[in-house]
Amino acid sequence: MRIYFMTFGCKVNLYETAAMEGMFAERGYVLSDRPDDADICVINSCTVTSESDNKAGQALRRLRRLRPDAVIAVTGCYPQALPEAEKMLPEADIVTGTKDRSRLPDLVEDFLDKRTRTVYIPEYGLRDEFEKMSCTAIPGHTRAFLKIQDGCDRFCSYCMIPYSRGRIRSKAPDDLRSEAEALAKAGYSELVLTGINLAFYGAEFGMNLADAVEICNGIDGIKRIRLGSLEPEMMTDSVLDRLSACEKLCPSFHLSLQSGCAKTLKAMNRRYTPEEYFSLAEKLRARFADCSITTDVMTGFPGETEEDFIESYEFVKRMRFADIHVFPYSVRRGTRAEKMPCQIDGGTKHRRAEKMSALGREMRREFLESQLGRTCPVLFEREKNDGFHGGYAPNYTFIKILTKNSEKSLRNMVFYVTIDKIGDDCCFGYIEDGRDPDVSGISAENL
Ligand code: SF4
Repeated sequence: MRIYFMTFGCKVNLYETAAMEGMFAERGYVLSDRPDDADICVINSCTVTSESDNKAGQALRRLRRLRPDAVIAVTGCYPQALPEAEKMLPEADIVTGTKDRSRLPDLVEDFLDKRTRTVYIPEYGLRDEFEKMSCTAIPGHTRAFLKIQDGCDRFCSYCMIPYSRGRIRSKAPDDLRSEAEALAKAGYSELVLTGINLAFYGAEFGMNLADAVEICNGIDGIKRIRLGSLEPEMMTDSVLDRLSACEKLCPSFHLSLQSGCAKTLKAMNRRYTPEEYFSLAEKLRARFADCSITTDVMTGFPGETEEDFIESYEFVKRMRFADIHVFPYSVRRGTRAEKMPCQIDGGTKHRRAEKMSALGREMRREFLESQLGRTCPVLFEREKNDGFHGGYAPNYTFIKILTKNSEKSLRNMVFYVTIDKIGDDCCFGYIEDGRDPDVSGISAENL
């Protein structure tokens, strides 16, 4: 039987899709990269915004029209956060959440046997185990996502994630080591450690994020370790010192801010002040040369006055981020913020978001200009059909080089590139002659 997965949302969901694909492949199912010829279609949903919920519903209806006879399952954060959601997904034969992902193959085979619609959304408790899942391939990706943490205990007032992911829990260090070794053996040279609240890795068994990075830092074959999104918590001086001692750790940090206004952060139930955030960023910049810090900023949170917005704007300006993702606040049914007074009208939210985004573009350009003239190792991962090879530098700058011989793939190879031009969202450069790449031994002139 052929099975097709459609994935929405974050790197954790991408990882879990790859792990579920592995489970089905072990049972002899053939993975398909399109639904047209699939007997089974699985939508791995996200619920970070109401729009994400709608997208899952629309995808389901589209798939049912396309494949009236296929078995269709909807899994992931949407049904888990809103169990009543299964009523909104009548076209689905199977509806499950994020808990017990490993049950999906059994549920599919039960359905194939009994043809009875199945809803399986067990609730999270206060101390669930980290579900053992592993994957040795992330199809279509050069860098391997490695999920090491799940759940969140923070309950920010606008967020549904704690309801869709349960309480914090972490992958056991031995499982982490063996899975990272397997990914290195499978040829991945960069690992992206990811989680729902990654900064809380190991909190429940007396370890922390530095322990996870040190484990990966010691594995042969792994050349780079990158961290997924981070909350600005748990990053003590000793954790930062240990992280900066890991030579394979990439100096790029996506440190979620949400607002630069102390009053708004309090209303969001975020556990830091703008000054604490600033000091953490300074500590990162002091320990990691040429590090890039990026972030998420929300505008128009309930109660945000024009003064609050300006305070946030001025703080973001002071931070000189390498890039920012701006989100106008979107009401989430079931969150505390939904019921807060002083909801901001859409026009104001979007006007503020546009002003913040313009600042973001300015900072992005400044950051890219600061990379001019630098020579850095680039892990190539894409051949753009516009005649460029592309890949990321350690500080997550995307760099393109013109290909002389576009037939040759540089995928998963590292070359030293000197940056000589910038684009809107990337840099351009050329391979430094004589600086043999640290993987393939192919010299620049015969590329
Ligand atoms: S830290 Fe806050 S925003 Fe992040 S997942 Fe947890 S509750 Fe949501």
